[in-house]
Amino acid sequence: MRIGFIGLGQMGSAIAANLLKAGHEVTVWNRSADKTDALVAAGAARAARPLDAAKGDLVMTMLADDRAVEGVVFGEGGIVGAPALHVGHSTISIALADRLAADSGTGGYVSAPVFGRPPAAAAGKLFVVAAGVEAALDRCEPVFADIGQRTFRIGDKPSAANLVKLSGNFMIMAAVEAMAEAMTLAEKGGVDRQTLLEVLTGTLFGAPVYHIYGEILLEDRFRPAGFAAPLGLKDMTLADTAATSLGAPMPLLGIVRDHLRSVIATEGPDIDWAGIALAVRKSAKL
Ligand code: NAP
Repeated sequence: MRIGFIGLGQMGSAIAANLLKAGHEVTVWNRSADKTDALVAAGAARAARPLDAAKGDLVMTMLADDRAVEGVVFGEGGIVGAPALHVGHSTISIALADRLAADSGTGGYVSAPVFGRPPAAAAGKLFVVAAGVEAALDRCEPVFADIGQRTFRIGDKPSAANLVKLSGNFMIMAAVEAMAEAMTLAEKGGVDRQTLLEVLTGTLFGAPVYHIYGEILLEDRFRPAGFAAPLGLKDMTLADTAATSLGAPMPLLGIVRDHLRSVIATEGPDIDWAGIALAVRKSAKL
């Protein structure tokens, strides 16, 4: 397929590389043009404007936040009205996903946020959560298989996929918070983190989230960030906005959001979102 790819950060550069490996004709655009170099060397074409990456079959976007997506879609040289089907992988607000669906023009719009950190993206092992018109999802299916291990279809309303993604990210943060609190408790009582993690993941807590984030907490592997805390704070804020508009109280969300604020203030914006463990430990004087 002829695919445009916009947004070559940690996730986007890995996904675009897999599209090239799968044999697609890929055209790339990134705000900082130097990030296109490696992909161009690997066979991608370079677009001068986002719109120039949206003239094929699909244009996939993997950008930081709502502001970045709005700029690339509705700003100067943006992709709105282009013939390609817009596939939005970024974690964005429900409101923006609804606007993209309503204003997508002839190309159409599919929301397809993903679960998985940069190593999973590089390995083509993402989980894709997709929603949009069925025929559009059918067109995307083979491409999703090139970048991920499984695709979940959520229905024909694109923003439903974003709601699932925000709910999932909230649960990851809640799991990290729970693990950090349990590890702090155990450590204060003289049981080391590794022993605790072995017992928990070997008994009732064998899910991938406890293995992946448990290892990160065990080794204090917070830099370089695989998922930067400011992006995590963005997601918890988006979840909070959705919770307010839908009338769903989420007290736990308030706690993890505040720990993200605290760790960004004390450690700086380059820390991984799992760094909330540092805020938990600090409050226990560890
Ligand atoms: P990242 O490494 O920080 O990359 C962000 C990308 O957005 C870069 O290409 C950046 O361009 C671009 N960008 C930022 N502001 C922009 C603007 N105003 N206009 C145009 N482009 C702009 O982030 P990432 O980790 O790849 O995450 C990308 C998206 O995936 C986010 O929505 C994130 O929540 C989501 N996500 C991340 C993970 C993860 O583990 N990292 C997992 C699942 C989903 P420059 O290169 O010019 O800065």
